[in-house]
Amino acid sequence: MRVYNFSPGPSALPLEVLERAAKEMTDTNGTGQSVMEMSHRSKDYKPIFERTEALLRELMGIPSNYKVLFLQGGASLQFSMIPLNLAAGEQGSAKKKAVYIDTGVWAKKASDEAAKYAEVSIPASSKDKAYAYIPAAPKADSDAAYYHITLNNTIVGTKWASIPDTGAVPLISDISSCILSEPLDVSKFGLLYAGAQKNLGPAGTTVVIIREDLIGHAPAWTPALLRYDIHAAEASMYNTPPCYGIYIIGLVLEWLKNLGGVSVIAQKNREKANLFYSYLESSKHFLSPVEKVSRSLMNIPFVPRETDPEKRKDIETRFVKEAGAAGLVNLAGHRLVGGMRASIYNAMPIEGVKALIAFAEKFEGSL
Ligand SMILES: *Cc1c(COP(=O)(O)O)cnc(C)c1O
Repeated sequence: MRVYNFSPGPSALPLEVLERAAKEMTDTNGTGQSVMEMSHRSKDYKPIFERTEALLRELMGIPSNYKVLFLQGGASLQFSMIPLNLAAGEQGSAKKKAVYIDTGVWAKKASDEAAKYAEVSIPASSKDKAYAYIPAAPKADSDAAYYHITLNNTIVGTKWASIPDTGAVPLISDISSCILSEPLDVSKFGLLYAGAQKNLGPAGTTVVIIREDLIGHAPAWTPALLRYDIHAAEASMYNTPPCYGIYIIGLVLEWLKNLGGVSVIAQKNREKANLFYSYLESSKHFLSPVEKVSRSLMNIPFVPRETDPEKRKDIETRFVKEAGAAGLVNLAGHRLVGGMRASIYNAMPIEGVKALIAFAEKFEGSL
């Protein structure tokens, strides 16, 4: 039996995609091979790779002066590659400035890593209120190499309501947990990156969308596999790319296109999120800790209104356990923040959200 999976990542994929992948597992497109068995340079694999990139470009409206790279290492490796390629100095010469806005764990990990290769400044943070809001974006220093934001903060459930204007300084964003959830104007960014395991496909593939003028600035000592210029020149095939993951991403993108594309899924995502936030607003026992204007459409943390720590813990434990038994799984909050969290990515149908609300209302009756 399929469950409603509220996991923050790796997370639920559309059933149609999984069924098609299963059907094609041993023989894809009449080749007599699984995609897993194909050479990445073969005529059988080439159309699969090209279709995935073309669909991503179409669905996101990626302008032609941007390269799309399919890499490995997760979003976390981008925390290193970005400063290495854009702000690190040649041996003996100065590091460049890089601006990071601190909106939670992932943003902090990104800036901590960048501090090894760049002169990092963090002019704004929402740490003072446990990251429950997005701070105002200060103007960028004009000599900064780039300005980094985490568009959707998976753990605390916040999202930038508008894209900051950083002038001539390239804006970079981690979009791991919101890629393709709503329309996004790619041309406002110098570089976008996302680990696949939230809205795109299986873990192991990372998508990087980079404006061409930002390619080719890595110092000579940068390891080959960490250089954007090498990956771009080799069209993501400097070494073996995550072939099967790219194929599954292609199937997910095809599913999304057939559904009507990003504007249609955005409407569905708003509907799902509104439904759950409205429930929380009216609930006597649960609430959203996040400031209204900063609320994520993808990750919705919620906590008991109960303030006694012991009773609170008991409610949380029981909620997650009983929900699981009812086929609503992976609702525990992040290990660092506790509480509960419903991650409702593109693949979560509205029926899943309705089932969660029905469960929560029944659970409230037991309190
Ligand atoms: C999940 C996530 C990451 C970490 O991704 P990995 O692929 O595990 O490195 C980074 N940033 C955000 C916003 C995430 O949601």
